Amino acid sequence: MADLQNATKTTDGVVVNGFVLSPVVEKCEGCERIREFEGEKFCSSYPTPERKWTGGRCNFATHVKAQTAAAAKVNPLKASKRAAKGR
Ligand code: SF4
Repeated sequence: MADLQNATKTTDGVVVNGFVLSPVVEKCEGCERIREFEGEKFCSSYPTPERKWTGGRCNFATHVKAQTAAAAKVNPLKASKRAAKGR
């Protein structure tokens, strides 16, 4: 796993390109965008991973498939269309 690029440890925390990073949250576990730095895990895509998970799954998560919500919505629709056609 590569380290964060341009990361520096400051008194404010770990800073990358002027952004203070927050560590990843529990839901990020397993994501390929996690980078370790100074013994903590950070997201290589977002300075504040926690915010990516408020209101749904992180849209950049590599470990969670973009399935369920969309699939669950589409399938009953198809099923009801099929049911309407057949007799
Ligand atoms: S991309 Fe999303 S899920 Fe992955 S580490 Fe970053 S915030 Fe977490």
